[in-house]
Amino acid sequence: MSWETVIGLEIHAQLATRSKIFSGSSTAFGAEQNTQANAVDLGLPGVLPVVNKDVVRMAVRFALATDAAITERSQFARKNYFYPDLPKGYQISQMALPIVGEGVVRIVMPDGTEKNIGLTRAHLEEDAGKSVHDMFEGSTAIDLNRAGTPLLEIVSEPDMRCAQEAVAYAKHIHSLVRYIDICDGNMQEGSFRCDANVSIRPKGQSEFGTRAEIKNLNSFRFLERAIEFEVERQMDVLESGQEVVQETRLYDADKDETRSMRSKEEANDYRYFPDPDLPPLLVEPSFIESIRQEMPELPTVRRERFVTEFELKPDDAAALTADRTTADYFEAVIAGQAFAPKLASNWILGELFARMNKESLELTDAPVNAERMAGLLNRVHDQTISGKIGKQVFDEMWSSSDSADDIIDKKGLKQITDTGAIEALVDKVIEDNPSQLAEYRAGKEKLLSFFVGAVMKASRGKANPAQLNAMLRDKLKP
Ligand code: ADP
Ligand code: MG
Repeated sequence: MSWETVIGLEIHAQLATRSKIFSGSSTAFGAEQNTQANAVDLGLPGVLPVVNKDVVRMAVRFALATDAAITERSQFARKNYFYPDLPKGYQISQMALPIVGEGVVRIVMPDGTEKNIGLTRAHLEEDAGKSVHDMFEGSTAIDLNRAGTPLLEIVSEPDMRCAQEAVAYAKHIHSLVRYIDICDGNMQEGSFRCDANVSIRPKGQSEFGTRAEIKNLNSFRFLERAIEFEVERQMDVLESGQEVVQETRLYDADKDETRSMRSKEEANDYRYFPDPDLPPLLVEPSFIESIRQEMPELPTVRRERFVTEFELKPDDAAALTADRTTADYFEAVIAGQAFAPKLASNWILGELFARMNKESLELTDAPVNAERMAGLLNRVHDQTISGKIGKQVFDEMWSSSDSADDIIDKKGLKQITDTGAIEALVDKVIEDNPSQLAEYRAGKEKLLSFFVGAVMKASRGKANPAQLNAMLRDKLKP
C-alpha cells in the first residue's frame, strides 16, 4: 500500500510587545518568577482586561503580509479548561470570529520548487503561565510571568505533503514574522513554537485520515523528526489493521519518538463563549490603512527585486533577504558605489557570514559595519588589492576599527601593478627554477601554476594576478 502524508500546522508566535495582551505587566523574558504578573494576569475578582493596541496592530501587519482577510469586528472568547498555570480557569482566545481570516503564503523548497500554502486563520490569545517541576523537592511550583503574554496563533490549511514542506512553511512564517517585526522568533525561549497535525491516507483517496497533533515543537529539526516518526508510526498502525486515534502527542527528542499525551478534546469540550469582559474588537479601515503605509517591503518582493535590480542569482537573493537586517546591510553596502552588487553579495554571504558563524555573532554585532565593508570592496574593485589580500584586510578590520584604506597603507598591502617590479620578480623566479623551466618548455604546461604561485609568494601576495599571468606566459615560452 502506498500512503500520502497530510500535514497542517498551528504556529504560536509570541508578539513582541512590551506589555501583555490585556494588562500593563512587562513581557520581558527571564525576570524573577512571579514578578511580572498583576491582578489582571491572575484573574483576581473585579479586574477587567483591556486590549493592548500594539497587539492588534501586529495582527493586522501579519494579515497584510499574507494577503489575508481582516475581520472588521472580531471577538474574544473564553476557552474554559482547568490547568494549574491558568488561574482564571479559562484562556482568553478567539474562536468564531478571529481577527485574521484566510490568507496564503508561497513557500520555496530547498530545491527551488515553489508551492502555495493556505492559511485558515490567525487569532489572538493570551499565553498561560508555567509549571516549574521539582523546584522544591517533589513539588511543582507555578510561575505566572508568562500568563497573559500575547500570542498570534497561525493556523494553516492541511496543505503540506511531507515533513520537508512543513519545515519550509514553518521557516517561511518564522522569517516573515521577524521581517514585519511582530515576533523575535526566539525558539529556545519559546517565542515561536509549532504544533504539527499529521495524518496519512492511501494514495488517491480524497478524504483525510484521522490526525494526531504533536504539541510544542520548538526547533525545525524536531518538527521534521517528529513528523517523520509519526508518519512511520501511523503506517505501522494502519498496516497492522488497527486505527489511528485522534489524540495529542508529544515528541521526545532524546528517544526520537512521539508519545500519547491525552485524547484530543473537541472544541465543544472547552465551552467557548464570547468573553463578556471584552467588547467586540473593531478594526477600522483607516487603522488598517495607516498600518499598510508603514509596512516594510516583504521578503518575497525584495528577493525578486534583488534579482532584477541587482542581477543576483535567485538563491543568493533569497539568502540576502532571509532576514531584514542582512538585506538592509547589503543595500547599505552597495548604495552609491561603483562596484557590482554581486561583489558585495559574494563577500557578505561568503567571508562575513563565515566569520559570524564561527563566532556565533549576529550581524548587528559584527564589527565590520556596512560603511567599512564598502570601503574594502572599493579597494578590491579598483584593484588596489586582490580578493585574496582583501580577505587579509577583512581579518584586520574585524579586530580593529581601522578602515580598509588605513590597513592597506599601514601594512603596505597595495597591489603591485608596476610592470617593472613584476618583471623583476618573474625573472628571478624563472632563474631560480631551471629544471621546472625545462619541463615546462618540454610541454608540461601544468607547471604554469607553480610559477604563478612562486611569483605571488615572492610578491607576498601583492602582484596583480592578471599582469603576472600574462608576463609569465610570455617569458616561459620556448
Ligand atoms: P484544533 O484547534 O482542534 O487543533 P483545527 O480545526 O483548528 O483543530 O485544526 C488544526 C490543524 O489541523 C489545522 O492546521 C488543520 O490544517 C489541520 N488538520 C485538520 N485535519 C487534518 C488532517 N486530517 N490531517 C492533517 N492535518 C489536519
Ligand atoms: Mg490544535
